[in-house]
Amino acid sequence: MARPPETGAGRFGGARGAARARVLQAAWIFDGERRWIEGGGLLLAGTRIERVLESPAAVARAHRDVARAHRDVARAHRDVASVEDLGARLLTPGLVVAHAHLELSALAGAVPRGPDLTSWIASLVAQRGAIARPELLRARGRALEQLLTSGATTIADVDSMDLPAPLDPRGPRVLVQREVLDLSDPARRAAAIERVRRRLRTNVRRFEGISPHAPYTVSDELFQAVAAVARQRNLPVAVHFHETPEEREWNELGTGPFERLVGPNRNRGPALDRLDRTGLLGPATSLVHANDVTAAERRRIAASGAAVVHCPGAHEFFGRPTFPLADWLEAGVPVGLGTDSAAGNQTLDAQREVVLACAAAPDVPPERLLAMATWGSARAIGLGERHGRLVPGALADLAAWDVEGANPDDLSASFAAARRQPRAVWVGGRQVRGAPAPRR
Ligand SMILES: [Zn+2]
Repeated sequence: MARPPETGAGRFGGARGAARARVLQAAWIFDGERRWIEGGGLLLAGTRIERVLESPAAVARAHRDVARAHRDVARAHRDVASVEDLGARLLTPGLVVAHAHLELSALAGAVPRGPDLTSWIASLVAQRGAIARPELLRARGRALEQLLTSGATTIADVDSMDLPAPLDPRGPRVLVQREVLDLSDPARRAAAIERVRRRLRTNVRRFEGISPHAPYTVSDELFQAVAAVARQRNLPVAVHFHETPEEREWNELGTGPFERLVGPNRNRGPALDRLDRTGLLGPATSLVHANDVTAAERRRIAASGAAVVHCPGAHEFFGRPTFPLADWLEAGVPVGLGTDSAAGNQTLDAQREVVLACAAAPDVPPERLLAMATWGSARAIGLGERHGRLVPGALADLAAWDVEGANPDDLSASFAAARRQPRAVWVGGRQVRGAPAPRR
C-alpha cells in the first residue's frame, strides 16, 4: 500500500522530542477499532502517538515524564509540560473519507438527478468541461475546509483533472487517486497509461493511488496496465462498481441507458470476471458503491480481500434502495464510508455520513459505524496501520466531540444520532480546528 513518508517524527526523548511531547486527556477515548478508555489520554510526540494512556494514573505518570524531560533539557515550558484537558468529550481518530471528488464541489447543486444515473453523468461531464481550472482549485479548497470542519483528517480524492497538489499545511491529508478511463479508444488509453506511470510528487500530506473509473469506461487493456503499475509501486486502487442495475445490464448484455452514454460493449461479461482476470480483484482495490451485488458476488469479493466503499449521502441523494450494510460486514468485507461529490450529495460532511448510515442500518451497532468511519475507511483505501486509529506509532490525527452518555454504547449512539461538528481537530499532532483546551 502507499505509505505516507515518515517526517517530523520527533520521538519522545532528547531535547527535540521533549519539546514536542504533550499529553491530551479526555473523559472518553475510542481507538478506532473497538477499544474504549475512560479517563485516559494520549501522549503525543511530534506528529505521532507515543503512548495510549489507559487511566488517570497513566495520564499523571506521562505528565510527570514530560515535565521531567523538559527540566532535563532545560527547556521547561509551563504550557507544553502540562496536560491539555478536553473535559467531558469523546476523543476519536480523525474521520477518514474513503471516497470523494473534491473538485466537483464546483458543481454543488448544479447537476439535476435526472431519470437515471447516465443522464446525471452526462450533465456533470458537460458542465465540468466548461469550468476553468482556478475555479476547480477554489472548489477543492472549499471542499477540504468543509470536510476538515466536519472532523475528516484524511480524504481519498479522485482527481480527474490533473490538478496540482493540495498542500495546505493546516489541511487534511489527501490520498490523490488519479482517475483514468479510455472508453475503448486506443489514443485515450495510451494517454491514460502514461498518466498512471507518472509518479506524483508526494509528501506527508499527500500520497498517491489510482482510480480506473469504472468497468463501463475502462478497457481490459487499461485495467491490466493499472494493475501492473499498482503492483509495481504498491499503490491502492479505487474502481466505481455496480452503482446501479443499469450498469450491470451494460456490462453483461450491452444494452440499456449506459449504451447511450458510452456506446456498444464489445467485451460483455460480469464486471467481477473482468476485474479478476485483469489482476484488480484483490486486497489493494476498493470497490466504490457496490450497490447492485448478489450474495454470490459478495462472497467472491470477500474471498478476494477487496474492500467496499459505501457513500450514504450519495445513496440518499439518488434515492437508492437500502444498502445491505450488515450483509457486507457479516461477509467479512472491509467497508469504508465516503461522501462522493457535492454534485451528488446534499453536502460534504464526514460525520453526517455516519448519521445517514446508522439511520439506514438499525441492525448495525453505532460503534461499528464509528469504527467504519475511522480505521475501517483507512483499511478500505489501503492506508495500513498508522491511519484512522489510536495506537502507539499512529499519526496523531484526532477529533474531539461533544456527545452524551456514560458508557460506550450510549456514546456511540449519541455520536451517530445527529449531525454535529467536532470541538477540535488535530492533524499530525497540530491542532487545526477549535479553541485550545484548558491546561492543568
Ligand atoms: Zn465517485
